[in-house]
Amino acid sequence: METQLENGYEILERITDGFFAVDQQWNFTYVNTEAARLLFRNRDDLIGKNVWDEFPEAIRLPFFEHYHKAVNEQVPVTFDAFFDPLQTWFGVRAYPSPNGLTVYFRDITEEKMKSTEKDQHYQSLFHENPDAVYSFDLLGNYLNINKATKELLGYSEEELLGQSYKIVISEEDMEKTVHHFNLAVSGLPQRYKIHTIHKDGSIILLDVTNLPIIVHGEVVGVYGIGKDITAQKQAEEELQTTSQQLQSFIENNADPIFIYNMDNEVVQVNKAFEETFGWLKQEIVGKGLYSLPLIPANKWNEVCELDAIVKQGKHVIDKETVRLRKDGTRLDVMLSISPIIDAKGNMNGWSTTVRDVTEWKKSQEMLQNTEKLSIAGQLAAGIAHEIRNPITAIKGFLQLMSSAHDEYKDYFNIISSEIERIEQILSELLILAKPQVSKFERKDIKVLLAQVITLLDTQAILNNVEIVAEYQPGVTYIECDENQLKQVFINFIKNSIEAMPNGGRLVVKISKVNSEQIKIQFIDGGVGMSKETLAKLGSPFYTTKENGTGLGFMISRKIIENHFGEICITSEQNNGTTIDIILPIRI
Ligand code: ADP
Ligand code: MG
Repeated sequence: METQLENGYEILERITDGFFAVDQQWNFTYVNTEAARLLFRNRDDLIGKNVWDEFPEAIRLPFFEHYHKAVNEQVPVTFDAFFDPLQTWFGVRAYPSPNGLTVYFRDITEEKMKSTEKDQHYQSLFHENPDAVYSFDLLGNYLNINKATKELLGYSEEELLGQSYKIVISEEDMEKTVHHFNLAVSGLPQRYKIHTIHKDGSIILLDVTNLPIIVHGEVVGVYGIGKDITAQKQAEEELQTTSQQLQSFIENNADPIFIYNMDNEVVQVNKAFEETFGWLKQEIVGKGLYSLPLIPANKWNEVCELDAIVKQGKHVIDKETVRLRKDGTRLDVMLSISPIIDAKGNMNGWSTTVRDVTEWKKSQEMLQNTEKLSIAGQLAAGIAHEIRNPITAIKGFLQLMSSAHDEYKDYFNIISSEIERIEQILSELLILAKPQVSKFERKDIKVLLAQVITLLDTQAILNNVEIVAEYQPGVTYIECDENQLKQVFINFIKNSIEAMPNGGRLVVKISKVNSEQIKIQFIDGGVGMSKETLAKLGSPFYTTKENGTGLGFMISRKIIENHFGEICITSEQNNGTTIDIILPIRI
């Protein structure tokens, strides 16, 4: 019996695994050499000692639990466990017997390290992945989710594991998702975009990849990788909006715009181009710069020069030149050319904005004409002055003749009234053209007006018109040319008297607008002016009167302008007229 046991133990000595046996009290009854070696103990020291006394650290490790399970349930157990006091992984098999427990174990640290290393690689690929990575069983219930998944969907592991993927899929994409998931279950990798719902209800656009998990040639589950492309989509949309805005800016620009690529081909023209040039877009787009029917032959050199400048990345601003419309007519234009630079800083074309300057040119010409007119006006003044003298002579001789030839008296009367008219026009013309000799002095506007009123009083009384002066108390001195202002007042008072053929009241008011300005008003209850008259008022020779010159207003306005003042007319047909003159007190 003894030998048998000895022999049995001999066998146990020969096995390469560590081996020990404990009795029901957990005391060592046998420890083989390998076990002693693995545990760094002397086997004789261990025999008879309690396992948990000798290796107390094992109590909190899986060993304790597994051994007790084996003993309590009388079942063999197999497990791997790390024994940290020895920094060793043990692969353990334990068999219960009526006497206690026999345990086989070996050092599997090296294997374990290898596999955990590999495992950890995969684990980190899974857990540290910036994309959401997760796995499902074949029914689509979550088995595992990584950190990014939790962040992406807002759920914790407890909330998601064991749940169907359907709880995070938006209703609209449910069918699509089920379709793809089922294909993945059948072994086919899938890639698709869907809207998922975050725990807080917000919608996330996901780019999803589903891969079948294949073990021993069989699909046992499905991996999912989800990329949040919400921001990307937004950026795309924003980019699209920006480019739409740009497109609309180009398309709806009031000036014609061309876009060329680096091969000098027209890529785009806008609506204004069609309107201005008369060509349709499709007739121009795709054409090379040098074959464009818009450039006159004598401008080719210029185009080459501009081309060279722009190709260096420089701008051309307001280049005045000529282009041709479809019907061959000439178009005066101003070109602004800018290189188009892409996001990487490379030039990929250029744009030309064309401004039609035909109108501008016309107004330039008009300006020149005005200049000419003003010179003509000055000349006319000189001439007017010169004509006065001969006219005085003619008048004198006419008078002599009329007294000698009574039979022609009527004719002479007509001639002399016509001559008077000529004189009148001449004197008004003189005032119009001679502001440069004006002399500005401080004068009391009240006194000026009083003098004018005295002068015209007779005429007023004859016409049954009462002139009422209403002067606001206070200083009414202003810097002015006395004679010119008198001329203005005469004009307006005469106009008012003439507007009241059946008599009436003319109120002349002086008031202060502020410390800088003074206001003079002529308020009559006369016939007033039609809209047409109002519109034409001030154009030379516009008059509604038989004996009018139509120069009064023009001259008055000119004089007031010379005084840096302004005239404002309020008038309604049959309802009187008010003329407001605002003058600065100091010039
Ligand atoms: P003229 O008095 O020689 O006609 P004006 O330039 O002074 O020339 O006036 C132009 C026209 O404006 C007049 O013919 C008249 O029709 C109108 N007008 C000017 N002042 C008045 C006024 N106070 N009331 C009504 N019409 C007026
Ligand atoms: Mg007049």
